[in-house]
Amino acid sequence: MNKIKYCFASFFFLFAAMVFAQETEEKEGREPGHVNQSRFKQLYEEFSTPNTYRSASGAPGPDYYQQQADYKMDITLDDKNAKIYGEETITYTNNSPDDLEFLWVQLDQNVRAKDSKSPLRNGNGVNIAYTAGNFAQTYVTEPFDGGFNIDWVKDASGKPLSFTINQTMMRINIPQALKSGASTSFSIKWWYNIPDHTVNRARSGFEYFPKDGNRAYVIAQFFPRMAVYSDVEGWQNHQFWGSGEFALPFGNYEVDITVPADHVVDATGVLQNRKEVFTKEMMKRYDQAKKSYDKPVVIVTQAEVEAKEGSFSEKTNTWKFKTEPGQMVRDFGFATSRKFIWDMQAVKIGNRDVMAVSMYPKEGNPLWEEQSTKAVVQTLKTYSKFTFDYPYHKAISVHAKNQGMEYPMICWNYGRPNEDGTYSDRTKYGMISVIIHEVGHNFFPMIVNSDERQWGWMDEGLDTFMQYLAEQEFGENYPDVIAPNDKYPSRRGEAAKIVPYMAGDQSYISPIMSNPENVYQLGPNAYGKPATALNILRETVMGKELFDHAFKTYSKRWMFKHPTPEDFFRTMEDASAVDLDWYWRGWFYTTDYVDIGVKEVKKYYVTNEITKEMKEYMAARNLTAADLPPLVYLAEERSEDFNEDLKGKAPSEVSQNLNEFMMDNLTAEERAQVQEPKYFYEVTFDKPGGIPMPLIVEYTYADGTKENITYPAEIWRKNDAEVKRVISSQKELVGIVVDPKLETADIDTTNNAWPIKEEKSDFDQFKEKVKGK
Ligand SMILES: [Zn+2]
Repeated sequence: MNKIKYCFASFFFLFAAMVFAQETEEKEGREPGHVNQSRFKQLYEEFSTPNTYRSASGAPGPDYYQQQADYKMDITLDDKNAKIYGEETITYTNNSPDDLEFLWVQLDQNVRAKDSKSPLRNGNGVNIAYTAGNFAQTYVTEPFDGGFNIDWVKDASGKPLSFTINQTMMRINIPQALKSGASTSFSIKWWYNIPDHTVNRARSGFEYFPKDGNRAYVIAQFFPRMAVYSDVEGWQNHQFWGSGEFALPFGNYEVDITVPADHVVDATGVLQNRKEVFTKEMMKRYDQAKKSYDKPVVIVTQAEVEAKEGSFSEKTNTWKFKTEPGQMVRDFGFATSRKFIWDMQAVKIGNRDVMAVSMYPKEGNPLWEEQSTKAVVQTLKTYSKFTFDYPYHKAISVHAKNQGMEYPMICWNYGRPNEDGTYSDRTKYGMISVIIHEVGHNFFPMIVNSDERQWGWMDEGLDTFMQYLAEQEFGENYPDVIAPNDKYPSRRGEAAKIVPYMAGDQSYISPIMSNPENVYQLGPNAYGKPATALNILRETVMGKELFDHAFKTYSKRWMFKHPTPEDFFRTMEDASAVDLDWYWRGWFYTTDYVDIGVKEVKKYYVTNEITKEMKEYMAARNLTAADLPPLVYLAEERSEDFNEDLKGKAPSEVSQNLNEFMMDNLTAEERAQVQEPKYFYEVTFDKPGGIPMPLIVEYTYADGTKENITYPAEIWRKNDAEVKRVISSQKELVGIVVDPKLETADIDTTNNAWPIKEEKSDFDQFKEKVKGK
């Protein structure tokens, strides 16, 4: 090939192309509302400035610190009167560079105190209906007195310490500031009335079984807990109102729990006196369970539970739990009853054995003995694969009616069969899903310890996303539950499932980056939408390899630490080289939705005549053809420049300029190999939705072949409303579909096809129905 000539000629083509490009940009710029570069603006204004505590990469900085709170507690359960008593010593270490003039302790049970302000902040009037229990508690009976009774607070030498209680927060007025780097110890004695957790959706309490007169307890937020002090919030002492969950520092725990002798207990931490509290038979079964990797071993059987349901022992047993060195926890929870059946099996995680544990009253059977421990095993496997190896020695799933609540190593889960033992698929999958979700919370926020009080999505969204992955892998380990070719019926995670929420009434939607107390529809806001956003990010925007590496990097960087949203957002970019500011902005900082469509298709043919548009262009600039390089013209099918003779011809057959260019620049051999396109289309895509997304297009040609092209989201960076693509082909284009696999959560698919499809999707029909109301 004659290189010099070729370059010379292309220079002229380039020159012409540049003139046109400039004109086109100017034209776009003059059209109001079309250019919206703010959607691709970096998040400098929204993000806090990185510093030595938190690096711009999203990793902990060189001066990163976190406080430590170690607990020694003596707990006594009064089963007869449903009261709990405790005495605790907190050793608090101030690793911050600041001297602390006072300490803040959380008194979460005060949300159930008689004088709690929590019920007073609701402004929505009368409910359509109440459960009988809720109605009675709201309007008929005296309010339940469930707040903490603080007997005393003492310093290490036993001297009383002054304290001030403001609702769910207690300020300990230490006589001298706690210096940076120093530790202090103080003790608190307390008790409270345990609530019936089946009333008013308490996260902790008992369920009463009237048939046998027993209670099953799931106990959490039960002791005064240190608040977090950090570089981000100072003291995180935002009140516990009920929706925004918890922010807690890591620490070591030593907890003795005294319960009736016929109860069993499981809890956060390693059981220290198993031989004292287990029967010989239980010990034997426990030793079997440690080696049983394929199915659970029942430690306490249903028959044994039924035999003792009427015993109500007057004697007590003390169960001792302790966290292991290097396995700090941010909280402590326990479950106890004489009604609990107990099973366990071993799971290999990395080179360690973890015990997957289930505890349930007989009312949970046969569902619980069949499915619970399977769900625990699957969670540990999938989550460990995508984050880090589960570091604790056990994970316990406890059955508690209507509960779904998580603590380190232990969680409460719903899913109860009918009284005759039958259950629907809905109950079964609902139960497996909630167990995966709550056991999964061990990773987010128990180990990757985000601030739940401020950012509900950081644990709920990440956990719901991981839950989806674990559900979809469930059949790999348990084909008896999900047949190999079946798809697990995940409630959340797939793009299409979030559409009704994102398409809904804007006055009920808040950005994901909102405090959980302030949003309507916390489920879709903090669980469904962030989970879906991450799923779309993984499958459609970043790709699995880049996403998985970045997500793992985040998990490992912040394992046993306190991350913020920016640490997550920054790490995902840092580890992948994908600019995601536009994605975080659209999905996390706005309530915009996705809607992209195909608006218009124009057909062009190469012509040898100077077109009308070109003539006008030249006239406006006083140019003649001699002033310009050799040009190739395209005539639109509906314009006066078009005639039928142009159809189906190779461009070089028609355009003399092109023909000469090819003769001069290509060898005869090269010319013979060239396959010239015969059809030219200009396709206009429009974007009524606010969120820019990759433009996923399926082109169908007359011979039935399809071509899939994904244009990156950046295609919208200069023009947020409308973009055009040119398709040149040897084949006639007969169909275009945008987002053919429904992977972007596009809320309106009626504009997704050319030619427009007549049939309407289920969702469009649903939307019309809603609009009609
Ligand atoms: Zn959750």
